Amino acid sequence: SDHLLVYPESPASMDWSEYYPAFVQSQQASAAAPSEELSSGVTSTTNSMTKRVEVADIGCGFGGLLVALAPRMPDTLLVGMEIRTQVTQFVQDRIKALRNQNPENGEYQNIACLRANTMKFLPNFFDKSQLSKIFLCFPDPHFKARKHKARIVSTTLNSEYAYVMRPGGIVYTITDVEDLHNWMVRHFEAHPSFERLSKEEETADECVQVMQDETEEGKKVTRNNGNKYTACFRRLEDPPWP
Ligand code: SAM
Repeated sequence: SDHLLVYPESPASMDWSEYYPAFVQSQQASAAAPSEELSSGVTSTTNSMTKRVEVADIGCGFGGLLVALAPRMPDTLLVGMEIRTQVTQFVQDRIKALRNQNPENGEYQNIACLRANTMKFLPNFFDKSQLSKIFLCFPDPHFKARKHKARIVSTTLNSEYAYVMRPGGIVYTITDVEDLHNWMVRHFEAHPSFERLSKEEETADECVQVMQDETEEGKKVTRNNGNKYTACFRRLEDPPWP
């Protein structure tokens, strides 16, 4: 449960270096030591990242989307966030294996998975305007009306997505549940920070095809000849202060 979740106090205290070791810039830094210790030459190693995470796959499940996007966006750091411990571990092992199989070209160094409840702690991980893409692929539908508050799209959560996204960034949604699709469209369209992309814009975006074909849920829906409903939303510029 949530009390076992580890999450950073703020984005500044999040240590991404263990997740993306190929993007760590190691620096020898002199510690701000008290004067009597200076002569002992105390140093400490601080790790700073050469890039920031820009793409989040929320409720990433078994990681199919991350793995498919990794070679398509080699210079971008992507993170999958998943609440189930064993599923998170599975994705971490999967990424480790892919990295080991591709040691010379550095493939799959740009993806990682961490355990998180994104309904609670998203702004602990990301600064304002940090993300350029958020994926919400086949979120749990929570069919019953009294369970709708557990849906990962809501007015409140959309404000958190708006906060961590940069203007021009895109939220991608896909589901096989028509009612949930309509719910997501309604909530994003009603939110002042988002506008829906046209179908032409959606078709032109390679990521839409990837989330249809490469997510584990997307593959399952294809096998069952089910429908897939997609909708994308652009993060708008904030209006000027009055
Ligand atoms: N996105 C994947 C796909 O398309 O194949 C998995 C979809 S699966 C139906 C939904 C996933 O969201 C599950 O793996 C579930 O554990 C995860 N999830 C549900 N609530 C979550 C939360 N609050 N934070 C992070 N992950 C969550």
